[in-house]
Order: sequence, then C-alpha cells, then structure tokens
Amino acid sequence: MVLKGENSETTEDISGIASSFMMFLVRLQGEEEMTGEKDTICAIATGSGNAGIGIVRLSGPSAIDIADRLFYGKKKLRELKSYTAAYGHLYSPEDTAAAEAEKPSGEPLDEVIALVMRAPHTYTTEDVVELSCHGGALVMRRVQEELLSAGARLAEPGEFTKRAFLGGRIDLSEAEAVMDVIAAENARALDASLRQLQGGLSRNVTELREKLLYETAYIESALDDPENYSLDGYAEHLTPVLKDCKKKLLEMLGTAREGRLLREGIRTAIVGRPNAGKSSVLNLLLGEERAIVTEIAGTTRDTLEEKTVLGGVQLVLVDTAGIRETEDVVEQIGVQRAREALRSAELILFVIDAAEPLSEADREMLLKLTDPESGEKTDTASPLIVLLNKNDLMTQVTPETVREILEGKKAPGEVRILEISAATGEGKERLSDAVQELFFAGQLLENGENYLLNTRHVEALKDAEEALGRVEESLAAGVGEDFYTIDLLAAYEALGRIIGETLEDDLADKIFREFCMGK
Ligand code: GDP
Repeated sequence: MVLKGENSETTEDISGIASSFMMFLVRLQGEEEMTGEKDTICAIATGSGNAGIGIVRLSGPSAIDIADRLFYGKKKLRELKSYTAAYGHLYSPEDTAAAEAEKPSGEPLDEVIALVMRAPHTYTTEDVVELSCHGGALVMRRVQEELLSAGARLAEPGEFTKRAFLGGRIDLSEAEAVMDVIAAENARALDASLRQLQGGLSRNVTELREKLLYETAYIESALDDPENYSLDGYAEHLTPVLKDCKKKLLEMLGTAREGRLLREGIRTAIVGRPNAGKSSVLNLLLGEERAIVTEIAGTTRDTLEEKTVLGGVQLVLVDTAGIRETEDVVEQIGVQRAREALRSAELILFVIDAAEPLSEADREMLLKLTDPESGEKTDTASPLIVLLNKNDLMTQVTPETVREILEGKKAPGEVRILEISAATGEGKERLSDAVQELFFAGQLLENGENYLLNTRHVEALKDAEEALGRVEESLAAGVGEDFYTIDLLAAYEALGRIIGETLEDDLADKIFREFCMGK
C-alpha cells in the first residue's frame, strides 16, 4: 500500500495537507454518509519529481470500470480477482471505446501494471485500482487527465484517508497518524506515529471511554429504574475507578513533552569559547562539512537553525549562523546571540577545549549555566551536556575537574560530562546515548513508546482529566449522582474527540445493549 501524499500536485507540503485534511475530515463526516452516493476519486499518489515508477490511484465504486476504459491487456481489470495485478497499456478512452476486444487504434499513453483491490479489504474500504506507470511527471499527469475524462473526480488532499475513516477502517487518531507517518522526519517520530497508526492511542482512549460510559450508563439506569439498579455505596465504587482513569490520563499526558520533542526536535544550543570546537561539533552533528571551520568562517546570517538527527532523535540546532562567526566578527553581537540561543534551548551543549588548561571564562560559564540565580538562562531546567573536546590530543581538563567545580552546586537541569573529539568523531555515540537518556529514558520503558504526538490529543486528554476532577469534587461534596454524569460524559466526549466518535449514538447503543432497560 502506498502511504504517500494523496495530493495530486505534490507531496511536499505535508503539514498543510495534514491540517486542511483534518478539518475537512471532521466537517465532512456524516455529510457523505447521508447522501450515500459516492463518486470515484483519482490522484497521483507518488511524489512530484521524475522517478522510475509513479502510481496513479483510483478509489470508489467505479474505480475498476473507469480504469478498464483506459486499460488494454490480456484480460480486462474487471475479470481480475482482488489483489492481483495485470500488465497492459493505457490508451485514451476514445481509442479503447470502439474496440473492447481489439487492440485500440491510437498510441498508448503508457505501459503499466494495474493492481486491482476490491472492497472492502482495501485502504479506503472501496474498490481501488493502482496504476503503476513510468514515473515521469508528464506521463502521470496525462494518465490522470484521461481518468478524469473517463469519469473519475480529482481527489482532494487526504481524501483517500478520509474514505478509510468514513468506511470505518481507521479512526480519527489513526487517520492523523497516517499523516504523521508521512511527515515524520526522524526514526523515533516515525516509530511513534506507526504505533499510533496501529491503534496504540485509540486502544487506550477506547478503554477509558468504555469505563466512563459504563459508569454513566449505570447511574442513568439507576436513576430511571431504581428497583433494578441501586446507587447505595456507589460513591465508594466510583472513587477508585476515577482515580485509576485519572492516573491513566496523566500517564498519557506525561508523554506530551516527549511527543512534541520527537515531532519538532530538541532545540539545542552549542556554546563555548572561541576555538573550543563549536563549529567542529556542529559539523560532527550535521554529519557533513556544512559549517565552516575557523579561518574561512564566512557568516551565513540567514541560516539560524539547522536540523539533524542523532540516534533517531531530531535536534534543532539553534543559531548555527552565530556559531560560525569568527571571534572578531562583532563579538558583542556574538555574545548577545549566544544568550538568545541559550534562552530558547531545551538542551545545551557546552564545548570546552580540553587540550588547554581550563580558563577562567570556562569556569565562570560552567557556574553560570548551572546556577539558577545567575540569570544566564531563564528556563534553567534544560539539561546541560559539557563536552570536553579534543580528547584526541593530550587533555588537561578531565571530567573530574568539571565535577569538582560543580560540586555542591544544585544544577536545576541534569548535567552530563562527556569526553569527545569533534575532529575524529570519537564520543559521538556517547553523546547520542546521553541525549536519549536525558529526554526519553524514563518514558521509554513504561510506555512502550506510545507518545502523544498531537496537540489536539493533548488538549482533549487535558479536558477529560479536568472533567474527571470535577466528578471527584462532586463526590467529595456529596451532591446527587445525576451531577456526576454531566462531567463523566464531558470526559467521555473529550476522549471521543481524539478518535472522532460521536456521542449520542454510542451512548444510546451502550445503554440499551448492556443494561436491557425495561426487562
Ligand atoms: P569554534 O571557534 O568554537 O567554532 O571552534 P572550531 O570548531 O572552529 O575549532 C577551532 C580549532 O580547533 C580548529 O582548528 C579545529 O580544527 C580544532 N578542533 C576542533 N575540534 C577538535 C578536536 O576534537 N581535536 C582537535 N585536535 N582539534 C579540534
């Protein structure tokens, strides 16, 4: 299955696609269900550049028929079983129309492999045809145009996935995960998105919703039918249930920071004295000679941030232009910029030239970075990694030297001291491990890497958590049970937003199915 952008134009602006697609999903849910009529959509599914193979995809009730109007091979596509492919040529529908069985008259558009997948076991749950063409942009556009004139409609961005959602194959959070998988820029974010796509988040959310719905339904039933359902001692029953649900919600919310860091990267500042090796560390992290070292340091003022991936985690290196400036280039600005970089950083790499005796300036900087009172950085809780650089040479600064300086200091963030050689790359692994540990270690074990990747989900979980807090307050205040249901339902509904469920039908179903009213 091709999980590429569904956009006919390009797959580049994925984030734009993702957001417009989500709005459109929510808006159109139901609309189409009501009309019942579905048309057949078509789009180039692969990237916009020239490539060996490009896929034009069709989905909808007429997908196979429409493709057959262009396709000429040993068999017609409608004769193929699901998940089988056929070799053939595509012709303009005018050329094939006259002669179903005979070879069409005109020149073929392209030589293709057509893959037929029949409803409901397809990506969209509808009939799907994928035409693997030669991957030229012009060829594919021509094929697409002919498919459109044969009766297909051009798909909107994300519409194939929308159909998967409307067809009930995936829920909203999984649909979002599809977009995240496509947009993922590093291995860990990709893993987390894939996990969400496998329903990791949905399962947790669904479990919680079931519990909440059960309680709501029970209260409603008891209020309606006190003879069969008793609320005696109900508060004692509900208290631990709430506590458990809140704990789960908080656990999930606890991964939001990691999720954001995975998605957006860890904002990382590289600081240190001139000549300590900042540019060299930057080069090491970027994995190529992107930053220019010392003598020839040209200043690229417009490039302020660069992204790189270290051990599967994305780092956003802030003010890399500042790092590249030589010491005599407007030192004042350099210092100011280093401050700004520090302020916005979530991770600080402090580079020290360990081949030289530790300078007074380094000592001062170390103290400043680990002293919350110094005002060097406002968000001082960011971890600090001290890199003792140039350990390929005779070193004069050891980890002990640094530890002694920091002894008794109550650093607000965690501090690691690593020996490294930016020149040889020695120690890069250790740096990678340290970043993993500092940012992801705790969560990794407990959570199986189910990170919250999406702010919409974070907001919904927070709403649910607050609503459960209100239920606890009602319990403590000893108010009537009907008060609980309002907030229980609010939590239920907030969670439902994550997976794109509607409230009413569900509740009705549940009450009638589980509680057999009027028995
Ligand atoms: P910056 O001013 O902090 O950006 O420092 P640079 O990265 O420009 O490095 C200053 C000098 O130290 C250059 O001549 C580098 O080649 C050298 N240098 C940087 N890292 C190392 C290292 O790990 N080992 C050795 N031997 N030299 C290094």
